[in-house]
Amino acid sequence: QHNEDPDAPVRSTDNDAALARLSAVQKGYLQDPFVRHLVPRAHLQPPRPPLINIGTYVRTSGIDTLVDEWLHLGKQSGKKCQIVSLGAGSDTRFWRIATGAYNEELSTYIEVDFPEIVTKKAMAIRKSKDMSQVLGEAKVAGGGTALHSAKYHLLSGDLRSSPSAAFGPLFTNTEHDTDGQPLLSPSLPTLILFECVLAYMSPEISSRLLEWFVNYTKPSEGGILGCVIYEMFKLNDSFGRVMLANLQTRNVALPGALPFNTLESLSERLMKVGFTAARAVTLREIRKDYTKKSELEWIAKLEFLDETEELDLVLDHYAISWGLRLESDAVPIWGHW
Ligand code: SAM
Repeated sequence: QHNEDPDAPVRSTDNDAALARLSAVQKGYLQDPFVRHLVPRAHLQPPRPPLINIGTYVRTSGIDTLVDEWLHLGKQSGKKCQIVSLGAGSDTRFWRIATGAYNEELSTYIEVDFPEIVTKKAMAIRKSKDMSQVLGEAKVAGGGTALHSAKYHLLSGDLRSSPSAAFGPLFTNTEHDTDGQPLLSPSLPTLILFECVLAYMSPEISSRLLEWFVNYTKPSEGGILGCVIYEMFKLNDSFGRVMLANLQTRNVALPGALPFNTLESLSERLMKVGFTAARAVTLREIRKDYTKKSELEWIAKLEFLDETEELDLVLDHYAISWGLRLESDAVPIWGHW
């Protein structure tokens, strides 16, 4: 079938992520009262299989742990934190933070995605009383392609565009409806999140984007930089090739995941662009080695899963990597795994 818009298949992956999140919430794995506002006809959506629900749980709680630790670090340093989520899709993390224990530690939360995704999300946010209430006063801008509130900003852009021409200005110009203030400050702790996003663009383009943040933030002034990346990897083995082929039938390519076949290669990507410490773990390791026994028992009670071998195989092909950029001689202080 001829596809007019080559990016449409990549955008459609947001729907998968949203449906997986909704399913994990409906089955009791995750608590998220906001996700249903972002999925059309949420109450009619069939649940996903247990294996997907468990994967979504491990992914989300793993990233939550790193984000919470980051905000906790800010609390200890007496500085408020900024979070930028690139390719945020219908993520609800901002709302969960804003109604959670670390709201005070958060100064700014920015999300970027394609205009088509952003326009839909901005409309859904405006339609939901629960979501709007958390934002307080909010203004739609750019003909529906942006939304600004005191802390939360939703912006449209193509992450593949030149960061200095496209992103720098988005984050640093003073023409948003934000009282003439740039959205980001280089002197505050800044966490950048790429949850299942970088796989869709070339490694060169991802590195350029990461480098923009490395060059923008000033660790010596308190602007330490953290990065969390969630991605599929190890696509060179037989299971990886099946994953690739499945996505190919939907015209989704994964150029950004192909070069990464080991955990070391994932942390090297971060060190190469200027992070001073980096680590990567698979979802399989998170579940096996870093999840409390009581938590595993609680998960096992939610749904019956007979195939733990298959679960291990799938979880082994997804990784969370994270990097930290401090002043050159500072000791890493983040990431408990
Ligand atoms: N981060 C969200 C999550 O984990 O739920 C969404 C993940 S979804 C699999 C991938 C998202 O990245 C989609 O919303 C897609 O539109 C966005 N994306 C991919 N390539 C992009 C690009 N070049 N520019 C902006 N957004 C992009």
